[in-house]
Amino acid sequence: MLLRSLQAPLLLLQRLMEAAQVVTSNGNADGDYQYEIISWFDSVSKNAAMVQTETLGQILHLNYGVEYLKKWFGDMKIQDMDACALESLYASLVPLASHADFEPFIQRIADGDTAPILTQQPITTLSLSSGTTEGRQKLLPFTRHSSQTTLHIYRLAAAYRSRVYPIREGGRILEFIYSSKQLKTKGGLTAGTATTHYYASEEFNIKQEKTKSFTCSPQEVIFGVAYKQSTYCHLLLGLLFWDEVELIASTFAYSIVQAFATFEEQWEEICSDIKDGTLSSRITLPRMRKAVLDIISPSPCLASQIEAICRDSKASNWYGIVPRLWPNAKYVYSIMTGSMQPYLKKLKHYAASLPLVSADYGSTEGWIGVNLDPCLPPEDVNFAVIPTFSYFEFIPLNKKKQDLTSGTVGYIEDEPVPLSQVKIGQEYELVLTTFTGLYRYRLGDVVEVAGFHNGTPKLNFIFRRELILTVNIDKNTENDLQLAVERGSEVLNKYGGELVDFTSHAEVMHQPGHYMIYWEIKGEVEERVLGECCGVMDASFVDHGYVVSRRTSSIGPLELCIVETGTFNKVLDYFIGNGAALGQFKTPRSCFGQHNDLEPYT
Ligand code: AMP
Repeated sequence: MLLRSLQAPLLLLQRLMEAAQVVTSNGNADGDYQYEIISWFDSVSKNAAMVQTETLGQILHLNYGVEYLKKWFGDMKIQDMDACALESLYASLVPLASHADFEPFIQRIADGDTAPILTQQPITTLSLSSGTTEGRQKLLPFTRHSSQTTLHIYRLAAAYRSRVYPIREGGRILEFIYSSKQLKTKGGLTAGTATTHYYASEEFNIKQEKTKSFTCSPQEVIFGVAYKQSTYCHLLLGLLFWDEVELIASTFAYSIVQAFATFEEQWEEICSDIKDGTLSSRITLPRMRKAVLDIISPSPCLASQIEAICRDSKASNWYGIVPRLWPNAKYVYSIMTGSMQPYLKKLKHYAASLPLVSADYGSTEGWIGVNLDPCLPPEDVNFAVIPTFSYFEFIPLNKKKQDLTSGTVGYIEDEPVPLSQVKIGQEYELVLTTFTGLYRYRLGDVVEVAGFHNGTPKLNFIFRRELILTVNIDKNTENDLQLAVERGSEVLNKYGGELVDFTSHAEVMHQPGHYMIYWEIKGEVEERVLGECCGVMDASFVDHGYVVSRRTSSIGPLELCIVETGTFNKVLDYFIGNGAALGQFKTPRSCFGQHNDLEPYT
């Protein structure tokens, strides 16, 4: 048998990687550049299976001999091994792992152990996941590769977007971006959110220079670590540069909705600052104040135009405020899928006719896929996997037939398959092997294969796998909760109320256990209406275990608790205080707090 040694494919992969570097760092004329990066992606996606085998080879080659891999490979020499044989060997020797399995290794790195534990290159920076999907923040390795892939996916996605929505060179982006606190670990490593590391990296500047699109706010605003002050300044500067703004963006849609909720409250103050060239006393951080004051100057005409728009818009509950204030903007760009769907309605309200383009799919662990169809409505968006970024495996998930005795509806997991073997319509849990030292790492996201772009799968994000509501045999995920809340909030909307945010809790301290859903709402509605919302939500959980348990009263009726206005801002503040960043924030959909002082509607 002819053995394909790892060296030759690695050279090919290296060439593909180098091509990617060229297109990400040397874009000349914009059209040329876009053509180059799109043809690069065409080429890697056509050869996705081979590129994946070689990506794995490269990761293992680079990190040969690190402690984690030695545990499974022993002293086996992999350098001369055939790439395909190595791929099978890897899957047979290295077990699937979760964050908990990596935690002791990452902790040692955080504590200052510089031995090659996960990667040969020392890890000097750690990322903190937002912690709002799993309830606690995870520490993960971050390397230069992480910033490079962020730049790369940004430019790739931008090339596809510009085919549909071309933007003016030299224009500005009103970006609601925020850094987290930068913490030092016991061993002296910097820890912060992955987006914070990216904004601080050379790649962020390269992105601006090469795409010739500049963020409205200076670094001092992004790095203020006081998100209310940063939001005020983002809005103020966005309005000062109103005619240059080509798009409005954020990482997750939540930040844009949050920013416009702030605008509804603070627009008069912002207008007064624009009129007089002053800066509100809300901005207390000296560096932020100085940086913004250096940019602004009195603009009374602009202020009175904005004021007129705001007065008029206020009367229509701020419908379409975004295109009215930024008439040259071509679209709004942000992650709008998954846990961001509940904010889509509000975002559409603010954006009116302005297209909403849903952004790419990634996580603190690594980038996964790019949205190649910017025209698709956010609800239908899928993500083409980028096969050079990580080595991807897919655990097939098959819904168990409903077991009428136990009432369980779960998944039967099959053996993980490589990217080349996924099937359209099948659901999978994603497994990543990354250049940053994660090996067969279960991400916990469930995706469905929607189709293919050349040889690479296009994924629909379905939900995170963790159960967030379970009392006994019932099993409900964030997605199930989201659907129930959507139904309930339709009733609320019918009576003029608006859902601001929500979370939930499985109450098991008292028998029978039951679900509690917490709502923050806007507008006055009668108790009777809330009772109806509550009933609709209770009936919307279709999980068999829940339905059976409700019928037999082993789970009690769902309770709806209305929380005080501003409660969810306090939740946000709490997470930000613990190192999260507004840009990566996702409201936790499950909470374990006390609720004795809250009024339930059952
Ligand atoms: P974090 O690492 O805490 O910032 O969160 C990453 C998680 O956010 C992913 O594992 C997904 O669950 C979710 N996520 C990221 N991008 C998207 C997207 N485009 N659509 C839906 N969910 C996403």
